Amino acid sequence: MRGYSLMRIAGIRVLIDPSWLFIFFMVVWSLATGYFPETEPPVRGPWAWTLGVVAALLLFASVLVHELSHAVLAKRAGIAVPRIRLFLFGGVSEMASEPQSPAVEVRIAAAGPLTSFGVAALFFVLTLTGLPSIVYGGRNVTDYLAGINLLLGLFNLLPGFPLDGGRILRAWLWSRRGDLLSATRTAGRSGSFVGFGLMGLGLVQLVAARNLAGIWMILIGLFLHQAAGAGYETLLFREALSGFSVRQLMSQPVITVPDHASLEELAQDYFFRHPRGSFPVASGNLFAGMVSLEQLKSVPRDEWVRTPVRRIMTPAASITPLGPDDDVVTALEAMVRGDTGRLPVVAGGRIIGILSRRDVMRLFKIRSDLGS
Ligand SMILES: [Zn+2]
Repeated sequence: MRGYSLMRIAGIRVLIDPSWLFIFFMVVWSLATGYFPETEPPVRGPWAWTLGVVAALLLFASVLVHELSHAVLAKRAGIAVPRIRLFLFGGVSEMASEPQSPAVEVRIAAAGPLTSFGVAALFFVLTLTGLPSIVYGGRNVTDYLAGINLLLGLFNLLPGFPLDGGRILRAWLWSRRGDLLSATRTAGRSGSFVGFGLMGLGLVQLVAARNLAGIWMILIGLFLHQAAGAGYETLLFREALSGFSVRQLMSQPVITVPDHASLEELAQDYFFRHPRGSFPVASGNLFAGMVSLEQLKSVPRDEWVRTPVRRIMTPAASITPLGPDDDVVTALEAMVRGDTGRLPVVAGGRIIGILSRRDVMRLFKIRSDLGS
């Protein structure tokens, strides 16, 4: 899974996307060299970098608080939130299911911007008290955070799904039409539209005003455009596949490779005979790992005879296998996240089946053909 696990709060895993390290540096850099030298009092040199780091950390804490507010209300509505992913310009609370009603959706969505406005007010009041000025330039930091949190709240209210404003729009459409899927489609289109708008504005800013900040806007627009379509597809999938378990769809019996087999045997008896991209590996009766064609190809041919499969396989410890009672949508998401086409189904340590993306897609196709 992409992302570094930062911490757990109330059972929710907080993941940081690798892109965040870059963004963090960009924020610190632009604060230290562009923003703080222009503020009153002006701050320059190493102290500006120090304040930049402090301000960037507080900004990221603000984004986290925003996401946590969504997560808390989702959990209160009975929706599991396994993780919060923080990336490019904000965060995403990954909810295990869709909200049960438009009212629930509005509550969960509105919590974020309201929290950001609250945080902005907090920093604003802090600035007014004069307390931050105890350290040189401290006031500039709280000033900046008040402004950026206000902006964060406003930006998230833009009516494009999956932004918070887009979710509120979806809830409104949903309550009017009584159809979540059609509401998501419209809100998603509006999300693409807002995304294009941001890209356009960013381009103008970049070309006409020669302002590098335009790049941010282009990136955010791109992301939004992409996420808007993905949200609708996810929902289509969830609708078509809900209620199906891995057990119903998995292939049986499974062809497993013994972990002591040589790569020569792996090629001759498995990959040549059953054209698949990967096979589960068993040690005795137990699930030991997965071995792929790529892994086989990475070993020079003259070493195949004396190299056992277990030396090149991905060990079971670094694979999260599926359980027979997992639902198919979660299983598919796990395959997408792990960038794998097939995952073993394991119960009590034994491989009892295998699920491929193709199996899931086939069911999806049949379901949507019959549905339409
Ligand atoms: Zn939000």
